[in-house]
Amino acid sequence: MIPVADGHTHTNPVRGLGAAAIAERFKAVGGWFMAIVALSPWHYGIEFNGFESYASTVDILLRECKAASEAGISVACLAGFHPADVDRLIDKYRMKPLDVLELGFKVVEYEAKLCSEGQIDGIGEVGRQHYKTFPTRAIISQMILERALELAKDYGCIVHMHLEQEGDTTIGLVDIPAKRIGLPNDVKRKIVFHHSKPGTAVKAYRRGYIATVPGTPHLLMRVLGRVEPVFILESDHIDDPSRPGAVVYPWVMAETIQKLYGKREVGEDYLYRINVDLVEKLYGVKYEY
Ligand SMILES: [Zn+2]
Ligand SMILES: [Zn+2]
Repeated sequence: MIPVADGHTHTNPVRGLGAAAIAERFKAVGGWFMAIVALSPWHYGIEFNGFESYASTVDILLRECKAASEAGISVACLAGFHPADVDRLIDKYRMKPLDVLELGFKVVEYEAKLCSEGQIDGIGEVGRQHYKTFPTRAIISQMILERALELAKDYGCIVHMHLEQEGDTTIGLVDIPAKRIGLPNDVKRKIVFHHSKPGTAVKAYRRGYIATVPGTPHLLMRVLGRVEPVFILESDHIDDPSRPGAVVYPWVMAETIQKLYGKREVGEDYLYRINVDLVEKLYGVKYEY
């Protein structure tokens, strides 16, 4: 079997399967690495009460990372402030937009501190809504994203960005502030365009970033062996029983990769580059041969 890495996934021990069960199934079909990204407080059934509820998501994340690594999977752990939270906090929790901005800053600053202490590996998800929203909320999300990039520069953190899918525009609207902030090249390579289209992923790599591409069977069939191996794959599995298999189960992604291995141009070198080399470089982990 080819070793398979999941470059962006979620686990939910409260409502879903949780990390231990997921890691076990993933490992059985070749999985060796997962980047686990914290969900927003309400996904874990945490009643929202400001900053504390985000701190609680980090506690759950750390326990989930431990569970996955005890199941024999290498992990990276990230916690963020999702752009959809900006809308939810205003609509459902009636927060004032500027208070949401302040909370977002406080949360990503806390996460950057944990990252500098080596407790977590990076900040994610931050970014922009992929759907229509109010202009003020889009700006708030962008400001939180830019704060995360500044913190990434200060502390060398990885950042997973959730963004709209507008190709060059999407890359440009990250690259322009990144230039202003003065992200050094080694930090830029840790800034991840998560849920990218394959074409955008290659462009992001050329511009000095890295991207993850959803590993659905449909996309794997289109992409593997055809797109230059300069991207990482992700399941973006949300582990929510009300949306089973969204975006794809990590083990289904791995099984599909095993099935395609040896077919077409999908050789060992090609798959190692995506599933091992780039992952080792980004996360500083080591695949044990
Ligand atoms: Zn996302
Ligand atoms: Zn995600």
